[in-house]
Order: sequence, then structure tokens, then C-alpha cells
Amino acid sequence: MQIVIFGAPGVGKGTQAKILASRLNIRHISTGDILREAIKNKTELGRKAEKIVDEGNLVPDDLMGGLMKEVLNEDKSRKGYILDGYPRTLNQAIILDSILDELKNGIPHYISIEAKDSIIIERLSQRRMCSVCQSIVSLKKLENQSVCPFCKSENSFIKREDDDVEVIKNRLNIFHNTTSPVIDHYKRNANVIVLDGTIPVSEVTKKIMKIIGVTA
Ligand code: ADP
Repeated sequence: MQIVIFGAPGVGKGTQAKILASRLNIRHISTGDILREAIKNKTELGRKAEKIVDEGNLVPDDLMGGLMKEVLNEDKSRKGYILDGYPRTLNQAIILDSILDELKNGIPHYISIEAKDSIIIERLSQRRMCSVCQSIVSLKKLENQSVCPFCKSENSFIKREDDDVEVIKNRLNIFHNTTSPVIDHYKRNANVIVLDGTIPVSEVTKKIMKIIGVTA
């Protein structure tokens, strides 16, 4: 099964992608996670992407296209995947469509999770990431605890450079100006499942599973 999940930063697409990948036993491909890992490991891709990602801007399409071609062709992607964070521009959508045509694995499910900007800004300024397992947790839920509820690492929570309020606003602007047209493109040409990102996480998952025809 192939799934492409869209949504503004902070809307919960990464959280859903992680849950769905584990429930459906398919690969979670997060371009944000791949880039952050590359930056941490100072690879060639990481060096090229670091400043761009920290400022909340988009990594150039040619770099991302090359990366996606490589990742989608890997054996690990054969049994299925959920794509989280790509495509973010119309040009990336065209590149993805042609990679998928070549791979001939069938048409993916397209999912768009949506919420108002005010909710997103509030959420993102509260969120922290575990630097070990990259899970996202809200400060509200963490309640002064220093142990990651997912991988049990201690004191591993960091605020992502790009979760600063000004950078968040920049990411939201880019989302509305550049990524929304991509979702509109798929809404015109495919069947896009649209979900409300303000309902509880487990409800969003349940709805997605039902719509894609998987019983939990
Ligand atoms: P979010 O969706 O919360 O903004 P991600 O983890 O998906 O965060 O992405 C973080 C950053 O990585 C983006 O702001 C951007 O700089 C870069 N990035 C991720 N995916 C892409 C992409 N498809 N094209 C260009 N840049 C990307």
C-alpha cells in the first residue's frame, strides 16, 4: 500500500504517518526526518540543506527529487510506504507522479489533514522532539517529565530550530503559497481524503483506516 499524506506543519501529519506505518507495516518516509538526520551526520545533503531547513525554507526541488528517486527505489519501499513531507511544490508533484508511473505500483491513497493557522501556531510553539527517536511530544503532555515516553531516553527533548515562532510563520506562508496548490492539484486529479486535524489523534487514525479499507 502507498499513502501520500499532506498537511501544514504541526497539523499532525507526522504523528499519523508514524502510527499508520506501524499499524500497516509499511515504511514511513519523512523527508523532514531524512534531512534532519543528514544535517546531524553532516553528509553532503545535510551540508547543503542545513541553513535552508533551520530558516524554514524549502530545499531545492532537484535535490529533493534525486533523494526521492533513490528512497522510493530502495528495497525497503517495495512492500509499501507512507510519504510524509513530499511533494511540497507543484514541480515536486510532477517529479513524484513520474517516479510512481515508472515504478508501476498502483495509485497511492492521498490524505490531507487540515486545521486553522491559529491552532497550528499554538501547537508548534508547544512541541518538542526527542533527539534520539525523533518522536514529537507536546510540553503540555510532558508535564515536567524528562523521559521520552516512546524510547525511554532521558533528557532527550529538544526544540527544533524551525519551531521558533517567526520561523513557524514563514513555514505556514510557504505551506499556503506553495504546498496548498499541490493539494488542490491532487484534489482535481485524484481522490483526496480530507480530515479535520483538530479531533483527537486516535480518531483521525480510525477515520483514515476506515476510509482506506483496513479494519484495526
Ligand atoms: P513540517 O511539516 O513540520 O514543517 P518537516 O519535518 O516535514 O516539518 O520538514 C522540515 C523542513 O525540512 C521543512 O521546513 C523544509 O525546510 C525541509 N523539507 C522537508 N520536506 C521537503 C520537501 N519536500 N521539499 C523541500 N524542503 C523540504
